[in-house]
Formats: sequence, structure tokens, C-alpha cells
Amino acid sequence: MSFVLSATHVDQLPESKAEIALVGRSNVGKSALLNAVCNRKSLARVSNTPGRTQLINLFQTPTGGTVVDLPGYGYAAVSGKLKRGWEKMIVGYLNEREELDLILVLVDGVIGPTDLDLMMLEQLRASEVDFQIIATKQDKVKPSQRETRKRDLAKNCEVDPSEVVWTSTSTNEGIEKVRSIINRVLK
Ligand code: GDP
Repeated sequence: MSFVLSATHVDQLPESKAEIALVGRSNVGKSALLNAVCNRKSLARVSNTPGRTQLINLFQTPTGGTVVDLPGYGYAAVSGKLKRGWEKMIVGYLNEREELDLILVLVDGVIGPTDLDLMMLEQLRASEVDFQIIATKQDKVKPSQRETRKRDLAKNCEVDPSEVVWTSTSTNEGIEKVRSIINRVLK
């Protein structure tokens, strides 16, 4: 999978055979996950400064499928105007992007779903777009707390625990699973 372009609007995205998009709040670990899935160190920028990734980044697979990295929603909360712009962009993308097959919703495994995550899930259910919840930073949850956390996170997202893929870019937990989900959809 290789980086193709950055865009500021979804209508700038090229045609695609099949598409997967990633959403999540800023700092959830979206860039780190993309890099781990692609087996690269700096394909997507990993930062310690939340809220900077405002561009839509597009990656292409050798099969002609695309992976779209949507801007993290933390930055959208900065101002009401930005937030409305972000919501318009996401809703437009969900409802109008015909190529879209699956949304990967990243939820921070340490803090669980935020209000914005829950709003995102509500939007996805309303738009009837297929989604897969990915919990990040599993290594940061104490092993003794993992089972409880797994149940709580799933319950708060209103899905079965078996429907959530837990990942860690430190231990590579779940990375192969995410890769196979992407490959299955973009085959
Ligand atoms: P983004 O804003 O969603 O793209 O988030 P980043 O990928 O930039 O990650 C935010 C911070 O979380 C960075 O400091 C990463 O190193 C850290 N991080 C991301 N994934 C993991 C993980 O699986 N384990 C640990 N321990 N830290 C992670």
C-alpha cells in the first residue's frame, strides 16, 4: 500500500475500485496503526501534537483499492465553525462516496469511546455504512484489566466484544487481523 495524495475535500478524491476509510479522534493512534499495517515507519505522520492532521490522506493498494485516512475529529472541536465543516465533510463522504465499503472506527483502548466517537457511530448507523471498531493501544491497558475493558468498551459502543479488534502498535497485537480485513475488502 502506498501513499498517493492529500486532499482537503472529499470531492477531490480519485475514483476507486473499493475503499476503506479510517476515522477516530486525534491522538487515537490512527497514523501509528496505518504505519504498522503498511509495515512502514513513517508513511502516515505519527505525532505527539494532537489535532494537526487535517488533510484527507489517500493510500492505494496494488489491487486498485484505496484506504482513506480522514482527519481526526479532535481538531474539529477547536471551534464551532471547524466542527460544522468537519461534520459536513464526513456526512457528505459517508452518504456520497459510492466506492466506500467499510469504515474502520478507531477507539482509544485506554480511555474508551468519547462522546465524539459515539456520535460518529450513531452517524454510521444512520448512514447504513458498514463499520468495524478497532480499539487501539492495547499494550497500555494492564493485562489484569483487559477482559473487563474489552467488555466495557464494546458495551459502550453497543456491539458484542467479539466484534471489536484490539490492536497495539507496540506489540503488533491485532495488526495482522486489520491487514486481513483491509485485504478482504480491497481484494
Ligand atoms: P493520530 O493523531 O490518531 O494519528 O495518533 P498517532 O498515531 O499520532 O498516535 C498518538 C500517540 O499515541 C503517539 O504518541 C503514538 O506513539 C501513541 N500510540 C499510538 N498507538 C499506540 C499503541 O498501540 N501503543 C502505545 N503504547 N502507544 C501508541
